[in-house]
Amino acid sequence: MSQQHINLAGIGAGPFNLSLAALLHKVPDLSFAFYDKKKSFSWHTGLMLQGARLQTSWMKDLVTPVDPTSEFSFLKFLVDHGRFYAFINAEQAAISRQEFAQYLEWVAGQLPQVNFDSHVREINHQQGQFWLRFDDRIVSADHLCLGTGTKPYVPEFAVSHMGKQVFHGGSVLNAPRDFSGKRVAVVGGGQTGAELFLELISERWGECQSVNWISRRDNFDQLDEAPFTNDLFTPNYVHHFLSLNRDQKREMVAKQKLASDGISPSTLKEIYQALYQVKMVQGRDKEYTMRPGREVVAMHRQGSYYQLGVEHQHHAMEQLDADVVIFCTGFKTVIPACLESLADDIHWEEDGVLSMQDNYQVNWEHAGYNRIYAVNTSRHHHGIVDPQTSLMAWRSANIANDLLGYNLYKLDQAGFVQWGVQQQDKERYVA
Ligand SMILES: Cc1cc2nc3c(=O)[nH]c(=O)nc-3n(C[C@H](O)[C@H](O)[C@H](O)COP(=O)(O)OP(=O)(O)OC[C@H]3O[C@@H](n4cnc5c(N)ncnc54)[C@H](O)[C@@H]3O)c2cc1C
Repeated sequence: MSQQHINLAGIGAGPFNLSLAALLHKVPDLSFAFYDKKKSFSWHTGLMLQGARLQTSWMKDLVTPVDPTSEFSFLKFLVDHGRFYAFINAEQAAISRQEFAQYLEWVAGQLPQVNFDSHVREINHQQGQFWLRFDDRIVSADHLCLGTGTKPYVPEFAVSHMGKQVFHGGSVLNAPRDFSGKRVAVVGGGQTGAELFLELISERWGECQSVNWISRRDNFDQLDEAPFTNDLFTPNYVHHFLSLNRDQKREMVAKQKLASDGISPSTLKEIYQALYQVKMVQGRDKEYTMRPGREVVAMHRQGSYYQLGVEHQHHAMEQLDADVVIFCTGFKTVIPACLESLADDIHWEEDGVLSMQDNYQVNWEHAGYNRIYAVNTSRHHHGIVDPQTSLMAWRSANIANDLLGYNLYKLDQAGFVQWGVQQQDKERYVA
C-alpha cells in the first residue's frame, strides 16, 4: 500500500468541507487533502425536485462572506458559465438547489486536493499522527476535519418497514415514482414534507387515490425570515450563543426552530393554490388532506398496505391506511464508523454528542498537537446555524485561522443587535 503524509485530512467533501478546502487553496506551504467516498461530487440528489429552492442567500456561498475576491465564488461561477446578465434579469428571490449543486460541483472540480472514490475506512492515532486507511492506501495526517454530514432519521417503529413502500423523503428520487391509485402518507411538517406533498397533489407522479400530510406541529408554519431572525445567522449572534450555558443553549435552539426549520412561504403558497385549483376550480373530490397537530406513533403491515396509528394532540387517536409512507422526519448527526478506534480518546457530552470548543475543535486526549475539527456536528454548542449553509464560509475561516495560527481571514462583522450584556453595562449596574 502506498503512503503519504499531509498536514490536514478532511473526511467528507460535502459543501461544508468543500468550503474549507476552497479557503485553504491559496495557502502556501500547507499540505491538505479532502476525501469523499462518492464516485464524484453530488448534493442531495435524492431530493433534487424540480423547482426546489435554496433557503439561504446565494451570496452565502462557499467563500464570499470571508473572501469575496476568491476564484471559487458563486459570482465567478456565473461569469465562467456565461450566465451573469441572465442571472440578474431572472430576478430570483432564491436560486434553485439544482444551480447551487452545479456551483458546488464546479468548485469541487477545480480543487486538486479534493478526492472522490476515497472511502475513509478507519482512522487510528499513533506516533503523534493520524493514520487514515482507505481500500487501496494509507495516508497520515497531523490534523483532521470531519465533514461527513448527517443521516436520514426515521422513528424507531418504522425502521423494520423501510423498503419500496416505506422510505425516507431524502431518497424519493432514487426510487420509481408512479403513485397512481395509491394512498400515500407523508409524515413530517418541514420543508421536505411540504415539497413532497406539493409534488403528489400536483399529480406529477401519477394521480394518487389519497394523500395525507401529517405534522406534529400545530400548523404548517413558514420559515421565519424576518430581518432580526436572520440576525441569528451572523457571527455576532454566534458569539453571544457561545456565552450561554448548556441548558440555556438547549432552550434557545428549541425556541428558534422556525428560524431554520420552517417551510418556505413560496412553497406554502404553491400548496394552497394547488389545493384551490383541484378542489374549488376543478371541483374534484380528492382526499388531499393536511393533518397538523398529530404524531404517527405506530405502524403495522396489513397485507399489502400499512395502518398508521396517529395521535392527535388534543383529540383521540386516528387510524390511516396507506400503500406508501414517506418519512420526512429529518436528518440526524452521526459520528462516522471510521472514528471508532479514536472513540475512547474523544471527549463526549452526556447525551453522546461530541464535546466541542468554540473554534470547532473536538475535545480529545491529544488535542495539544493533533487537532480534530468537526463541521455540522455541534448544534448543541454553536446553535441552529450549525447544520445550515449560512455561516459555512465564516466557520471554515475560523478553522483555517485556527489551523494556520494566524488570522488569514477577517472574522468580525458589524451588527445592530446587542445580544448579550456588555461588561461596562454590567459594571454600571447598582443593585
Ligand atoms: C434536501 C436538502 C436541502 C437543503 N437545503 C439547504 C438550504 O437551502 N440552506 C441551508 O442552509 N441548508 C440546507 N440544507 C442543510 C445543509 O446545508 C446540507 O445538508 C449540507 O449538505 C450539509 O453539508 P455537509 O458537508 O455537512 O454534509 P453532506 O453534504 O452530507 O456531505 C458529507 C459527505 O461526506 C461523505 N462521507 C461520509 N462518510 C465518509 C467516509 N467515511 N469517507 C469519505 N467520505 C465520507 C459523504 O459521501 C458526503 O459526500 C439542506 C439539506 C437537505 C437534505
